[in-house]
Amino acid sequence: MAPRPAVSSGVRQWWAVLPDQLDAARWRGVAADAAGRGAPMPGVVVVESDEWLGRRPYHRQRIALILLNQRAFTEELRAAGVEVRSMRTRGTVSDALREFAGELGALTVDEPAEREMRAELAPLVGAGLLRVVPNRQWITTAEDFRAAAGSGGWRMDTFYRAVRARTGILMEDGSPVGGKISFDTENRERWDGIPAAPEPPRFERTSLREEVAREVEERFGRHPGRLDVDALPATHADTELLWRWGLEHCLPWFGPYEDAMSERSRGVFHTRISPVLNLGRIPPQRLVEDVAASGVPLQSVEGFVRQVIGWREFVRHVHGATDGFRNVRGDRPEVHAAPGDAGWSRRYGAAWERGVPLPAGVDGGAAPAHLGGARTPLPPAYWGAESGMRCLDRVVADVWDESWSHHITRLMVLGNLATLLDVDARELTDWFWVAYMDAWDWVVEPNVIGMATFAAGPVMTTKPYISGAAYIDKMGDFCAGCAFSPGSSCPITRLYWAFLARHEPTLRSNPRMKLVLGSLRRRSEPERAADRAAFVHVRDVLVEGGKISPASVAAALAASDSRSNR
Ligand SMILES: Cc1cc2nc3c(=O)[nH]c(=O)nc-3n(C[C@H](O)[C@H](O)[C@H](O)COP(=O)(O)OP(=O)(O)OC[C@H]3O[C@@H](n4cnc5c(N)ncnc54)[C@H](O)[C@@H]3O)c2cc1C
Ligand code: SF4
Repeated sequence: MAPRPAVSSGVRQWWAVLPDQLDAARWRGVAADAAGRGAPMPGVVVVESDEWLGRRPYHRQRIALILLNQRAFTEELRAAGVEVRSMRTRGTVSDALREFAGELGALTVDEPAEREMRAELAPLVGAGLLRVVPNRQWITTAEDFRAAAGSGGWRMDTFYRAVRARTGILMEDGSPVGGKISFDTENRERWDGIPAAPEPPRFERTSLREEVAREVEERFGRHPGRLDVDALPATHADTELLWRWGLEHCLPWFGPYEDAMSERSRGVFHTRISPVLNLGRIPPQRLVEDVAASGVPLQSVEGFVRQVIGWREFVRHVHGATDGFRNVRGDRPEVHAAPGDAGWSRRYGAAWERGVPLPAGVDGGAAPAHLGGARTPLPPAYWGAESGMRCLDRVVADVWDESWSHHITRLMVLGNLATLLDVDARELTDWFWVAYMDAWDWVVEPNVIGMATFAAGPVMTTKPYISGAAYIDKMGDFCAGCAFSPGSSCPITRLYWAFLARHEPTLRSNPRMKLVLGSLRRRSEPERAADRAAFVHVRDVLVEGGKISPASVAAALAASDSRSNR
């Protein structure tokens, strides 16, 4: 289809605003500027696509968050005088935009953050129906990333240091405020309930929330997870309220308890801003400015700023530079043909059916496997089957309850256990993508493939993020209520040693693994046999959807002991 000249109501330029580009403040500014100059207003098109929202078995809360924000954004722009054309379709985003371009002329779009969306829209760009302009929702550029890249793998701390120097954020006369670039080592306190952790805000039940709740139940009823629309920010004002809550109640204690996990508070002092931040409802620049001006202790300010201008920007660049892990410094891992369902069909005994065919260009993502044998299917425990391990069961329940959990539970419980069980990193990534309402390919793939599972090797981290029970016990309070004891019967420590033994040939050349592999070599053969037996038992029971217990683990170890004594 050839592009037509722009038409309709004096609009000079029509923009396609994607679901993660919902920056109402920007468009208010654009509208005010146009009005001030007597220039034509820009027009905006917004697409709600059932195909895209149902492409994977996403948590209902994630679908509701997106619909609420798209609709609130539309109203906010109309109130500011911007003409908005919105379409609800059972079909794809690309088909809807093609139709709009046929009517309104070629559309302009900020470069999509998601690779998957870039791939879907590429044919429209090629046909001249869509003009892509740089996306301004980021603090750093690809040039910042390239300039900070060393000859080895990419490292967040090198990137972060360079970004601080270039932007002047938390810098004074060319030196870091407080005398050092990172306060990470001071941010590792256990939390025992004092000071009290804040309860996240809930939002007023409006007709928009009623409408979206009804539609999600009706149109996306097969999707998993609990729907609780009053917990979700919808309007720009809701995002502001959530962010003020984060600044006032979380930030002062963010630093010291950044790594703490607790049954008493799911969020501890984390701000829960990622879902709306990743939708573009609030720019990262604004978060950093507010935090830098907050006056709270530097260890919290620096800790938060590092997450936003460091980790968040860094992972996005790694994703771009590796083409979504399809090209990991020359290695070209397998790419799945279609999006995975993360084990949904195994759990529910039915295929995940898509109503309409996938758009051309969309695939199932890269599946690197640096740790060769990591192909265990994701256990049903991640879908809510009880595993018998309290840390895992509690965090999984939290995720299906609210489509979010904080960083350390993602990394050191969900990621750690899956890695120790050699779970297929692609399937785990797909699970995080469907379960969390802040997940988008540019952020979930680096965090799971690149960081948690080490599936891409030392491309962005130096070693796997794994631990035994001692870490989970030290940083959390799950163990107190568990049938296992972290110092004795808990199998996680044996899983840790068994992991190191299995992957020693791959990890041997890694200098950061030298010490721990030295300890592994000092482990006796009977201990190693018991480690292997614990691994096989836990993996096999969990993959079958069963539950382990101290008695079942002890029986597996006893059986292995009697075999080795024969
Ligand atoms: C296995 C795994 C999967 C993850 N998947 C996602 C995901 O799909 N989407 C997502 O936004 N974050 C993801 N993260 C990063 C991090 O866990 C979340 O950003 C954070 O928990 C969001 O909660 P919050 O807003 O309260 O964060 P806070 O702790 O309050 O931190 C503030 C902000 O820092 C940013 N941030 C912190 N760490 C990271 C990181 N490693 N990568 C990117 N941004 C970071 C986020 O934007 C976050 O909102 C993942 C981490 C791990 C270990
Ligand atoms: S004892 Fe082991 S399984 Fe139980 S909560 Fe602690 S670390 Fe998790």
